Amino acid sequence: MMPTRRRIGVIGAGMGGLAAAITLARQGHDVVLLEAATRPGGKLRQVSVGGVMIEAGPAALTLRGVFDTIFESAGTRLDDHLRLTPRVQPVRHIFADGSILDLPMDAEDAEAAIGRFAGAAEARGYRAFRARARAAFTTLESTLLSRARPSALALASQAGIGRLLATGPFTTLWDALGEHFADPRLRQVFARTAGYVGTSPLQAPATLMLIADAEHQGGWWVEGGLSRLAEALADVATSQGVRLRLGVRVAEVLVAGGRVSGLRLMDNETIPCDAVVANVDSAALAAGRLGVAASRAVAPVALMARSFSAITWAVHGPLHAPGMPAECVLHGEDARAEYTALAYRGRMPASPSITVFAPDRFGPGLVGRDAIGGAPPGDAERLLVMVHAPARGDQGQPDVAATTACGAAVFARLAQAGILVAREAEHITGPVQFEALFPGTGGALYGPAVQGWQATFSRPTARTKLPGLYLAGGGTHPGAGVAMAARSGTLAAEELLGA
Ligand SMILES: Cc1cc2nc3c(=O)[nH]c(=O)nc-3n(C[C@H](O)[C@H](O)[C@H](O)COP(=O)(O)OP(=O)(O)OC[C@H]3O[C@@H](n4cnc5c(N)ncnc54)[C@H](O)[C@@H]3O)c2cc1C
Repeated sequence: MMPTRRRIGVIGAGMGGLAAAITLARQGHDVVLLEAATRPGGKLRQVSVGGVMIEAGPAALTLRGVFDTIFESAGTRLDDHLRLTPRVQPVRHIFADGSILDLPMDAEDAEAAIGRFAGAAEARGYRAFRARARAAFTTLESTLLSRARPSALALASQAGIGRLLATGPFTTLWDALGEHFADPRLRQVFARTAGYVGTSPLQAPATLMLIADAEHQGGWWVEGGLSRLAEALADVATSQGVRLRLGVRVAEVLVAGGRVSGLRLMDNETIPCDAVVANVDSAALAAGRLGVAASRAVAPVALMARSFSAITWAVHGPLHAPGMPAECVLHGEDARAEYTALAYRGRMPASPSITVFAPDRFGPGLVGRDAIGGAPPGDAERLLVMVHAPARGDQGQPDVAATTACGAAVFARLAQAGILVAREAEHITGPVQFEALFPGTGGALYGPAVQGWQATFSRPTARTKLPGLYLAGGGTHPGAGVAMAARSGTLAAEELLGA
């Protein structure tokens, strides 16, 4: 008989672990949350660059309703913990031919901007694309994304075959975009949504266009950076009675009588548990990072292709880029070649797309700058520059020469586009460092890649083969991203509580 007040261990204080811990503690269980790093948040992290803290993970919050629900479930409000500012600035897209599209967040403004940039037919294509993305989100939100156990049969019966097929499960995102956009630059812009889950648009199902809809539902900047969200969730967790232990790495999930009995830490301390939620990539479990019993509880790694890793440069130094908004994307020369190199060849593309976040330009009052456009020319600003990279961080030592050459090419491309960055102080994180932060992943940042229609149904779910062991996080259903990882934590807690 399972005790009413269960002892539950949660491994990892990423979004999934924090959400699971809050849900479980709210139900009166005795929850210990064990985090290897010295701060909560996982991929939501800051790095120190020349004494200045720079956000080195995701920048903006989308689907904030997921978090409103978590905070409200604990009797508090997101707005009581964090100051959020709507993400209204356009994102600047700079293409290899030198053309520039400033794409507003608002749908009608975006349509008008696309019309001016590429003509009326492309603007109509965008309107049709948006409607399709909206339909995909609405169809799948209630039938798939908020369900703990996705089933193709249940999905078809709830959503209806017609609506389901309209989400494009059997078409690639790349091909579906070709139905809406004749201009290859716009195809590049919206193909990026597959990159948000570390997947090539040449392999991702068109269904992933729902990410574009989630983005258009509205985004938020968090004052002080998105990692503050993790700190706020950790505060809520501890206020609910969760014992948060930082700087503690779990070495093994212990088993007795065929079910989870506890956790062993690296220093051999053991913690008896009736159940465990692992906010750890299932690849890490499969690789034996949490012991033999846990490795048998999940599918073998070889069955799932890894999502992309990244190279990020967190930079603090003088920036000369008059009028540059907070978010810019410099698209590569050839999207097909770029994603083929990353996904099929496991290589860095010759001309990678580059994402630039300049948080000091996020908006009035938010970070002490009083105008979009940022600091006076030449003043020091914080930047995060990012390119996708193959997740091969567990295959040898960091290739310093290759990373240096990649950095030189990336910053030369920025300079060519009029973004002049003095790299006075910087912190580089590549696949090898991401593997060290998230062991057993090769540096993959989004769990398994989402390839083909069956990807959703083969993704690990909260339940594992080992009774008492549950999974949460971006590598688990419903998928990667800040909000979905948090939701997977809530779903894992609910599965555990229902068991
Ligand atoms: C550079 C970058 C940019 C991104 N951009 C976006 C974006 O724009 N939008 C978006 O939605 N998402 C983005 N993401 C992805 C998003 O951050 C993740 O999908 C999400 O945060 C993953 O949360 P998680 O629950 O899987 O936990 P993780 O963040 O993976 O955290 C897991 C935690 O477990 C801990 N842990 C691991 N093993 C152990 C152990 N043995 N013992 C104890 N603790 C352990 C780790 O230290 C870590 O803190 C980005 C990620 C990165 C890195």
